[in-house]
Amino acid sequence: MPKGMSYEEFKESLSDHDARRRVLCKDDRPFHVLLSQQFGRPDIDRLCDTATAIRRLDRHREGRGFLRAVLSGYRVMHLFSQPSTRTAQSFLAGADKLGATSRTVTDLSTSSFAKGESVADAVRTLSSFFDAIVVRHHEDDFATQAAWALSSSARPIPVISAGSGRSQHVTQSLLDVYTLRYSFADRGGIEGKTILIIGDISRNRAARSLAYLMTKYRQPRVYFVSPRDYVPDGDLLDYLKKHEIEVRIHERLETMLREHGRQIDAMYITRLQQEWDEGGPPSELGSSEAYVLKPEYRELIRPDCVLMHPLPRVNELPDDWEDHPGFVVWRQVRNGMWIRAAVFATVHGADEEIRARARRLDLL
Ligand code: ASP
Repeated sequence: MPKGMSYEEFKESLSDHDARRRVLCKDDRPFHVLLSQQFGRPDIDRLCDTATAIRRLDRHREGRGFLRAVLSGYRVMHLFSQPSTRTAQSFLAGADKLGATSRTVTDLSTSSFAKGESVADAVRTLSSFFDAIVVRHHEDDFATQAAWALSSSARPIPVISAGSGRSQHVTQSLLDVYTLRYSFADRGGIEGKTILIIGDISRNRAARSLAYLMTKYRQPRVYFVSPRDYVPDGDLLDYLKKHEIEVRIHERLETMLREHGRQIDAMYITRLQQEWDEGGPPSELGSSEAYVLKPEYRELIRPDCVLMHPLPRVNELPDDWEDHPGFVVWRQVRNGMWIRAAVFATVHGADEEIRARARRLDLL
């Protein structure tokens, strides 16, 4: 990052392709991990190959020993201001796989934020003891502020977002495309596929990050089903348009599936994000009928349609869908660990070494 860059300039640069790479990459590889848009197609392909290399090395006796030494002595701070089961545990497990040590802070009232400490001072302090910070925060810009503060400091360490308010959940979308890549391996890859994303898109960070990431593939179609008040926001739609992605927005799932169900290659189902509702979440959580995947919809989609959900689910994807041949939700969960391990390896510059070792052992 150019010396003396203000936070406003840093933030501004995130909306431009070249400027974004200058502030978020180091030696042309991702350093801070904040947004789906920051990843080019080669970055994604390398990251997915690294995740596969780690997964296969982990099952191999020599490979496993090698992996545990890759980040030994490397220390990761996991700072989570919002509830998390899968994301937090998969980051921790991913760090373990590479031999890194982790510490977690979840109750920010026990940290000096409660005394009014600035984000900049807090993360600079943490950088004295840690080599990377993973952060989940309810504010959209917290991870961005942390990245800027660290890049301006004498000890810049990577900031990896684990979910930023309503804005983005970049590592979730990376594990989602990793899962899609696997699911479509015998069907020509993600290129040209039609993805249907269901939920309140404008405040669903996982859905938004995935839609942004789809632009890195050739000619996908991104369709949405969402309540009228939460249709995809202008930023996202402009980005999809700029990348010439065919977009459709529907309000009712059933009508959408009756008309276009057979064209859909993957469905990304999400819960309604009711924690953001004014006055707090309603006492009864869950989607209205219009967004629940009903048993009769099986007839409207192809048997090879991939079914995904970032979890947690409420009522929108009932258990009886688990025997559908395209149901890959538990694979997504497991992939979260491999992708997050690959993210650690990448920001630390150890990914090439991992892929090389996997190739040498004939695993890649
Ligand atoms: N676990 C995902 C997130 O943290 C999805 C969700 O909560 O609906 O954004």
